[in-house]
Amino acid sequence: MLTFEQSRLLKNLPTQFFASLVGKVNRIKAEGHDVINLGQGNPDQPTPANVVERLKSAADNPNNHKYPPFRGKRNLKQAAAQFYKREYGVDLDPEKNIAILFGGKAGLVELPQCLLNPGDIMLVPDPGYPDYWSGAALANAKMEMMPLTEENDFLPSYDRIHKEVAEKAKLMILNYPNNPTGAVADVDFFERTAAFAAHHNICVCHDFAYGGIGFDGKKPVSFLQVDGAKEIGIEIYTLSKTYNMAGWRIAFAAGNPSVIEALNLLQDHLYVSLFGAVQDAAVEALSNTAEAAKKISDMYESRRNAFISSLHDIGWHVEAPKGSFFAWLKIPSGYTSESFADLLLEKAHVAVAPGIGFGQFGEGFVRAGLLTSEERLQEAASRIKKLGIF
Ligand code: PLP
Repeated sequence: MLTFEQSRLLKNLPTQFFASLVGKVNRIKAEGHDVINLGQGNPDQPTPANVVERLKSAADNPNNHKYPPFRGKRNLKQAAAQFYKREYGVDLDPEKNIAILFGGKAGLVELPQCLLNPGDIMLVPDPGYPDYWSGAALANAKMEMMPLTEENDFLPSYDRIHKEVAEKAKLMILNYPNNPTGAVADVDFFERTAAFAAHHNICVCHDFAYGGIGFDGKKPVSFLQVDGAKEIGIEIYTLSKTYNMAGWRIAFAAGNPSVIEALNLLQDHLYVSLFGAVQDAAVEALSNTAEAAKKISDMYESRRNAFISSLHDIGWHVEAPKGSFFAWLKIPSGYTSESFADLLLEKAHVAVAPGIGFGQFGEGFVRAGLLTSEERLQEAASRIKKLGIF
């Protein structure tokens, strides 16, 4: 059999750090151990029933058996605009300000290819969601990392970005509530972001993947809520987390018309839009599930409370996340994030993601997903207690 060589483009892609974690978990499971897997980011609960029902009825509609309209169905773009008006008081034009995406990941990976030429600078949070790196690699862009440190509440410090870098940067990625740190951003931070970006002509892409998951009575802030944001950038909103729809692959981008047009243009060449029935079901999710979405967020809050208090009980003094479904746990001294994650997996059969997999500034932490029942989360803490580290 001939082996065909991969293109330079593929060879240039970053290695998928977390593929090795999956391998390690599978090896321990194959030995017959019951692993509590907090290492991944896959919602564990089903999609609200009315959304599933809408998919079923929409699948019977012959109109949905044809090619969908190239840039997505109008009813979905309208529902997305109404969602932003209802949830955040933001006015959006369904045609000019909204682009339908095959999941947030697709939009995040497409965006650098839409706006950057080889060698152009993209500002990326460190630690951050590794797919940002994939987007940069596919566009042959140069990443400049913005450290997110505990001292600065895991927000980037714009005054630490070198003037020459800021002058040259064309795109900045942000993500709050944040994966992996569980930090949130406030209006003041987004106002400073919009001002910095406008001053340097940088397009802001706010990845609002965990926009539906905020704790302690605080609803996560949309970047588009602040003055000037719609002019200086976009927000990517996925249905994956807010409505437990990760398998459906549907999201949208909202904001600056030239960026929306660029995303639509690239997608005109890559796809014909998503299956119409999935788009109809997404209309149902955005329009009629506010209560279900609140319940989902409340469930993560109650898991967070159970998990963090049981970690405190065993003597592991970690901070509680303010949003997202991740806890960012500072590790004891004497370990790297990888050696500590290996120890938890091998000796306690608890899988967590080592912080280094999210970037250099992720070192010193591990990420645990609140993606199993409170009982299992408490069980994870009691297994860790038996290691006698804390
Ligand atoms: N952004 C962040 C920070 C994420 O954690 C994820 C998923 O884990 C995504 C984007 C992508 O979500 P999806 O492609 O399911 O919309």
